[in-house]
Parts: sequence; structure tokens; C-alpha cells
Amino acid sequence: MSPRKTAKPLGKIAKPKFNGPELNLHGDIYTRLCALNWYKLHAERIAASRKLLRFRFFRGDCHVHSNYSDGRSSISQIKEAAEAAGLDFVFVTDHGTIDQKYECRKFRRIWWGQEPGDGPHHLGILGTEKTFRPTGDFLKDFRSARTSPGALTFVPHPCGWFPTTRYTAEQINLLKKLAHPFHMEIVNGANQFFDCWDITDAQSVQLWDRLLTKGKIVYALGNSDAHMVHGIGSVWNGVLSERCNKQAILSSIRQGHCFVSDGPLINLTASRAEMGQTIRPRRGSTITFQVAAADSAGIYQVRLIKNGQIVKRVAGRERRLVRIIHRERFVGRQFYLRAEISALDSRRAFSNPIFVANRAAR
Ligand SMILES: [Zn+2]
Ligand SMILES: [Zn+2]
Repeated sequence: MSPRKTAKPLGKIAKPKFNGPELNLHGDIYTRLCALNWYKLHAERIAASRKLLRFRFFRGDCHVHSNYSDGRSSISQIKEAAEAAGLDFVFVTDHGTIDQKYECRKFRRIWWGQEPGDGPHHLGILGTEKTFRPTGDFLKDFRSARTSPGALTFVPHPCGWFPTTRYTAEQINLLKKLAHPFHMEIVNGANQFFDCWDITDAQSVQLWDRLLTKGKIVYALGNSDAHMVHGIGSVWNGVLSERCNKQAILSSIRQGHCFVSDGPLINLTASRAEMGQTIRPRRGSTITFQVAAADSAGIYQVRLIKNGQIVKRVAGRERRLVRIIHRERFVGRQFYLRAEISALDSRRAFSNPIFVANRAAR
């Protein structure tokens, strides 16, 4: 049992359905030995990268579970872990409920959401004030969840999750029918503590490129899906925002002004356009894209991807900061361009794309 007492949540709430044994971040020996050291090293690495590449962003995990559903951690333990990992904000997205919100409200920048199972997929909802009751018709529910005031919906783990859940082609193909723009996890760290990356993430990135190449606007998210404190912050979103309040963060994520990372930093701009924006240049004009990528642990490679194809590959040669200028002549055919970095230890970051469209097409 935890020596730390969790204060009673405010208001009348249902008893958590799955109340697993509590782990205490400072009391559990495994966590103490592994997670705290890892958190510390990871946070130091990112802090050192931030000195190499100065741009304003906040780090957040938009998908973790508490003991209000099938997670093992209390809200106060999640807060403690998020702080140790150097995260600026967390959304606690329990499965069938948002009752955790009463307790989340006691902590600064611990926000809530929901992740109900919904037929062939799970449904991620952030910024919601009411528990969402799915009908089992995923496409319909996705539409109706996104219309609730202030809500941001996303597709969690679109291809399944580690270690053995693999979605069928039929499940994955259903996502092609989602009205865009929408948000989708391209990295999900479920059941992983230190290294979030696995085959399902590789599949999700491929799926993302396929959807983008078809002209869909799909914004990427990366979340730990942690069910124990150890996993929190194994992958996170770098959100470009002036302020770190829930409204500002959700507004930036909604517009795709963010990148996904499990270590390195990346930023992509085109003139004054940020990641996630659509630009409409004159036909025949040249667009100048700028990529800045940093990792204090050393860069292996930075890649630019246009319509699913690598158009530029720059070797890091053990540098810690790489800047790329890339020019594209706009011939009147819409495209997207995104950037990604891999570090010497294969940790990676993905920018959201910049979309280039015709002036007439709205
Ligand atoms: Zn899920
Ligand atoms: Zn989940």
C-alpha cells in the first residue's frame, strides 16, 4: 500500500472501477531505481537540446490512464511522475469516465479527457466536460464527439499497440472514411517504459503518410498511453504556444502546431507558416522550407518527406544541431512536406506537415 494518502476527490463521484494496487514513485524500488534515473537523464537531455535550438514550445502527454480506469497510478502519482519527466502538461484520459477530473483539478496542468472503446477502435477525446457514451459506430461517434464544445478528438494507436494487439486491414481502412482534418497518434507508448518505439508505430507513420498523400489533413500526436507512472513521458508532444493553459494548448494542437518526440527537437517552417498550416502560393513561385533539428545526444539523420517520399536526407555526422533550407517550386499540384530526425541512439521526432494547396481549392 502506498504510504501517501490520496485526498478524497471533490464532489460526488463513482468509485473507480478498476482500482489496482498503487505504486508510489518514491516508495517502489523498481520505479526508484529505473524510472527516476531515466526521467532525470531524459529531462536533462531535452533541456540541453533546448539550449541548442531555441523555440517556444511546451511538452505534454495527451494520453495516460489513472486508477479511475485500468491505470495503476493515482492522479497525484501521475503529477509527480510528469514533473520528474519534465513535462509541462498531461491529459489523464481514462476509459469509460471523466470522473478523474475532480481530482485533476487540484493539480496545476493536469487536465483530463476520455478514451472509450468504440467498436473497432478506441476514441480519444480531450477538453471534454461530459462523459461520452459511445454507440459502437466509430465514425458516427468520432463526428459527434468532436462537436461537443471545446473537445478535440483523436484516433489513438490506429494500427494496434505493443506487444501483441494488431488491428486488421479492415479496422485500419475504416480510418480512411474519417472526415478530415483529424488527429491521430503516430506513436503510442503503451506497455513500454523507456523506449516507446515498436512495429505498430512504424505502421502508424506509414499509414499517416498514406492518408496525407491522399490529400487528407491528418495531424500527428505522440502519447505514452501509460498505465503505470513509469511510462509517462516516454513520448510527448512539443506544442508551439505562447501560454501553457488548457485552452491555448488545445488550440495549438487543434491546428497541428506541434511535433511528436521521444527525445529530439524539430521545427519546420515555410516563410511565416508553422507546422500544421496550409499555404497557398502562386503557381510557379518557389517555397522556402526551413528545418531546425536538435539533439544534445547527437543526430544520426534528418529527413524531409514530400508526399510519402524522402526528398532530402542530411547526415548528422554527430552534430547536435542541423539546419536545412529546402526549396520547392509550386507547379500547381498540392502536396505536404514534413520533417523527421533520428538521433544516434535512434530516438526520433516528427514535425507536423506544412500543406501546400492551390489558391482556388478551399
Ligand atoms: Zn486505447
Ligand atoms: Zn489508452
